[in-house]
Amino acid sequence: MAKRDYYDVLGVNKSASPEELKSAYRKLAVKYHPDKNPGDKGAEDKFKEASEAYGILSDKSKKENYDNFGHAAFENGGGGQGGFGGFGGFSGADFSDIFEDFFGDFGGGGRRSSRGRSSQNRGSDLRYDLTISLEEAYLGKKQNIQFSTSEKCNTCKGNGSKPGTNPDRCTYCGGNGRVRSNQGFFTVQQTCPQCAGSGEEITNPCTDCSGQGNKQTSKKISVTIPKGVDDGTRIRLAGKGEAGTRGGVSGDLYLFINVKTHELFKRSDVNLFFEFPISIADAALGTTIEIPTIDGKKAKIKIPDGTQDGKQFRLKGKGMPFMRRGDYGDLYVQVKTEVPVYLNKEQKELLEKFREIENEKSNPSIKKFFQKAKSFWKS
Ligand SMILES: [Zn+2]
Ligand SMILES: [Zn+2]
Repeated sequence: MAKRDYYDVLGVNKSASPEELKSAYRKLAVKYHPDKNPGDKGAEDKFKEASEAYGILSDKSKKENYDNFGHAAFENGGGGQGGFGGFGGFSGADFSDIFEDFFGDFGGGGRRSSRGRSSQNRGSDLRYDLTISLEEAYLGKKQNIQFSTSEKCNTCKGNGSKPGTNPDRCTYCGGNGRVRSNQGFFTVQQTCPQCAGSGEEITNPCTDCSGQGNKQTSKKISVTIPKGVDDGTRIRLAGKGEAGTRGGVSGDLYLFINVKTHELFKRSDVNLFFEFPISIADAALGTTIEIPTIDGKKAKIKIPDGTQDGKQFRLKGKGMPFMRRGDYGDLYVQVKTEVPVYLNKEQKELLEKFREIENEKSNPSIKKFFQKAKSFWKS
């Protein structure tokens, strides 16, 4: 089955802004979301199709690739790492944004059903922005990061009571953690507003944390940046966020990776590109060039005689690593022939001589052009 154009899928034109893309995707996702269309295979396919299109078009470098090469850009494992096989299989956390945005639309957010006592006391998630170089993204690295967060109080072990004392039963709910109220015919149970569901009341607060159970600290941890991370990659460190209160679980820490622009290599997903300037003599006669590679080493490319400006050479496996996979993308080197400037007398004379003895065979494009022009002038 032929793949539909991503812009057609979202029903937008190529010049659509990121906001327009997001809004178009949002409409489709709300309409076809599996939660709203249980068991409807057609809707599920539409949802996946739209999600795939948005996944590509919302990512700057993937969009650029798609605009240049179409679907071919993502064949051979070029782009869709992780694949779009099933709902939930997306690699980019960019989706969480959009889903968080509109989970409200599903009337209650069925996916957030875990709202119990522990999620209510769950610690906050934290965000840490980390800027690394392209070389570091290539190699991966371990890095110490320091940030301010709240940690469980050691003095009271997080329960908020002075050591040696115990909390009393909550007077509001009698220690149940939940209270009932009558609404018409129904009796509704709610989490106790007084003790937030713990059923306890602290009568002798810990002096170290004022009964909070948590203390603000500066925390230092070592994180591993996997090789292959891209600009905009988010890494979730489960449980490394702020400590929960009264037995609640800790939040998560999200590392937001920024990869600095490299002065030589341009990156597009796992592939790298750069332009290599060569002289017209080298392009015409052929040569061997030595080029830098992202691993800090060198590679040789044989430039055959008669190489035209813009010709690309592909070095397989010399690109960036796929995240959490063993293989690598490719390096594309594009030849840029440089017309010489500031010629000295001898160079000028030689080129003059060259112009005199130039023949049509060595410039087939010029010959072809003038043939066409001649017949155009005649008609
Ligand atoms: Zn304490
Ligand atoms: Zn209570």
